[in-house]
Amino acid sequence: MCGIVAYIGKNKALPILLDGLKRLEYRGYDSAGIAVLNSGVHSIKSVGKIKALEEKLDSKKFSGKIGIAHTRWATHGEPTEINAHPHSGDQGKFWVVHNGIIENYRTLKDKLIQKGHNFKSQTDTEVIAHLLEDFYKDNITDALISTLKLLKGTYGLAVICKDEPDKLLVARNGSPLVIGVGQDETIIASDVSALIRHTRQVIYLDDGEIAEIDQNNFRIINIQEKEIKKTVEEIEWSLEQAEKSGYPHFMLKEINEQPESIINSIRGRTIIKDGKVKLGGLETIMNITRFIEKISIVACGTAKHAGMVGQLMLEEYANLETSVEFASEFRYRKPIIDQKTAVIAVSQSGETADTLAAMREAKTKGALTLGIVNAVGSTIARETDAGVYNHIGPEIAVASTKAFTSQVAILALFTVLFGRQRQMSMVMGRRILGELNALPDKIKFVVKQNNKIKKIAKKYYKSNNILYMGRKYNYPTAIEGALKLKELSYIHAEGLPSGEMKHGSIAMIDKDFPSVFIAPEDSVYEKNLSNIEEIKARSGPVIAVTTEGNKELKKLVDEIFYIPKTLEMLTPILATIPLQLFAYHMALLNNKDVDKPRNLAKSVTVE
Ligand code: GLU
Repeated sequence: MCGIVAYIGKNKALPILLDGLKRLEYRGYDSAGIAVLNSGVHSIKSVGKIKALEEKLDSKKFSGKIGIAHTRWATHGEPTEINAHPHSGDQGKFWVVHNGIIENYRTLKDKLIQKGHNFKSQTDTEVIAHLLEDFYKDNITDALISTLKLLKGTYGLAVICKDEPDKLLVARNGSPLVIGVGQDETIIASDVSALIRHTRQVIYLDDGEIAEIDQNNFRIINIQEKEIKKTVEEIEWSLEQAEKSGYPHFMLKEINEQPESIINSIRGRTIIKDGKVKLGGLETIMNITRFIEKISIVACGTAKHAGMVGQLMLEEYANLETSVEFASEFRYRKPIIDQKTAVIAVSQSGETADTLAAMREAKTKGALTLGIVNAVGSTIARETDAGVYNHIGPEIAVASTKAFTSQVAILALFTVLFGRQRQMSMVMGRRILGELNALPDKIKFVVKQNNKIKKIAKKYYKSNNILYMGRKYNYPTAIEGALKLKELSYIHAEGLPSGEMKHGSIAMIDKDFPSVFIAPEDSVYEKNLSNIEEIKARSGPVIAVTTEGNKELKKLVDEIFYIPKTLEMLTPILATIPLQLFAYHMALLNNKDVDKPRNLAKSVTVE
């Protein structure tokens, strides 16, 4: 999920690798490492910034012309020097850098240990190096193909081998790799920004492809060793655009990444045929969760809104009494929790001070503490009794988008996990998991409405206030939509349960006060419809988010965004996305800095 750079060619590899790593720094990472082949392999790793790695380097030793480098965003094992890449096997013959997750690494590792292999790190990646050594006879490509056949999960990887010092191999499955074709040199990177200074001629590797590269030639094959013809493309982006994969802002990039980030959050965690969920991080406490009687979700901001969706799911499908608390309030209240309560702390960074304090408070009261965190090895991840990572890679834009949808998806996994321990049927479990797995394609449909949403934003960007309303599962969507608008455009917005509007806020409605209604065709659709009528009766403009194919609302409201049909409990994942795009365009039209809104920080580590 973080960065790879690899080089083979006429020049010294080290400066090119280091420069490439620095170009990838913007993505955020926790550790870094390099290996260069030069009569043996020289490798160095360090925790923290590339600068720390550079300071440790003796560049004389690293004079070879072939090498691999990595910035790690830990998924398996904390961000330590030992866990940093490159990884090698016992013989130090193969060196590997890897982005992504090897889902079946535990089974593979156990088998390798039985065969006598010794593992140094806690990473999933290290199994790849050991498997390569295990399979190697006299051909690195054969060894790689045999290894890849055993791997389940995602990878972008680059491999060098001491015994074949003029070859570099890379392979991709679900984690990007680009081959930069230069003059007597080839640079491979996970992201074009790392190679654009050297060449603009690139080949994008597709899933299932392997490239075998030497100084002057390369060959692209698939896992059956069938040769694949690829076209060389010319990159026309500037360096700055390249960092954002061609998108003008990180936020838009991250909104568009959601089909992929949802897959990454649920991959390997759902067993659809049994209607079951497998969460490695919770395995040790499965016997305890069976006896939990109450859940309390603690979080702040967007993560709290995800928690509110979680509350409804856990109550409806797992039959568990659930509360959601502002972490900043929870810590100063006298919350009633005990050994039969599980407290779930939700935080993208895993460092949110208020959430951390609430979680610690719960721990002293004897509650079981669980985490839903994106940053591996962060404080919340370390201090909770057990937890689950989002696995969505770094989120750079300050306003959270892909973390929110991932948090909701993981809370849906928690719901099935706890539900199946209670009364949830296998059929219901299957249904939820099937729908979760169908979300990525549905999200693609939603993000395609970007241009339409932009046009609508042009009509409303001068508004001073906007009300966001929804019911049941989409009341949290309403407050999340309002928060996005506030954060990005500084326009005042408020989220309300649709039914509450008539108890006060409706007094504000007139022809200049727009409302956004999240009204998919769900169990409360008719109720929302009546509330929309109430607004229209007072000449208030209405923007609605509803289910694809709905004709009724089109006649009633001023603007409409569509989401595909899904289970009611999962509608917030789809319905939030048009609101993210709407807030994004509203902010741009108001000339605001969408990636770094004023007064905000990505990780709120103060009270
Ligand atoms: N899963 C690997 C690890 O934790 C790779 C992480 C990454 O993509 O940076 O080491």
